Amino acid sequence: MKPWMAAYLISIATACCIFFLVGGLPAGKRFTKKDAYRYFKKFGYMKMSDDENSNVTFRRSVEKVQKFAGANQTGDLNDETINLLMTPRCQNPDVFEKKNRTKRFLLAEPWPSTNLTYKLANYPNKTINLTNSGIDKIIRNSLATWAIYAPKLSFSLISSTSSRKAVINLKFARLDHGDGSSFDGPGGVLAHAFYPTDGEVHFDADESWSTATNSGANFDWVAIHEIGHALGLDHSSVKGSIMYPYYTGFKANLTLSLDDIAGIQELYPV
Ligand SMILES: [Zn+2]
Ligand SMILES: [Zn+2]
Repeated sequence: MKPWMAAYLISIATACCIFFLVGGLPAGKRFTKKDAYRYFKKFGYMKMSDDENSNVTFRRSVEKVQKFAGANQTGDLNDETINLLMTPRCQNPDVFEKKNRTKRFLLAEPWPSTNLTYKLANYPNKTINLTNSGIDKIIRNSLATWAIYAPKLSFSLISSTSSRKAVINLKFARLDHGDGSSFDGPGGVLAHAFYPTDGEVHFDADESWSTATNSGANFDWVAIHEIGHALGLDHSSVKGSIMYPYYTGFKANLTLSLDDIAGIQELYPV
């Protein structure tokens, strides 16, 4: 074979391979089938024991992700789906095997007491435009927003310097921070939270946190979303709800959707 012909065949093979791996996305946005498997297992769309060589299982998992996000259910790892899987999001899983899935929102257990204390352990080293007092205020507002629709809930702050324990404990943490759910640096997962009666809420300290701007990760949305988990709410497949797992960017007027309200009122009846 002539050298130019070999080079030509190699370039064709490479092009096909890249197309398969990234679904035609521009360079720099490489997302492999292996990444998709990792995603499906991490967020509950595939069981750990599922066969990674089964195309049927793979397509079914793609369909489940597409359905939850409200996208077209093609079963193909197409550009739209790859973009979805690369969207910054909450680290909590979307699907739990044993949960009753007849409702649009999913629920954990409520707190046995509705008078809840909270504590913020630290602040991120750098933000786009957030001050420490700004972070305090956003957390306070997030708690208050849930309490508007669940008026039996009340929250009181415990200072980070106090030795008193709080029920809901918030902190900024990086990478592996000792709870088995490592963060991943800038982008990707933004935060995670544990349900009652754990109440830990962790924000990825490597994000560029912001408020009232399109730049960076909007702390207002992430705080109210994660506090929703700490109060007992799971992810919702309703796009536009606070408990939708994907980060959908800065919104000027952050309010609970009907789905969020139905969820919090089921946990804490009015
Ligand atoms: Zn979440
Ligand atoms: Zn954590």
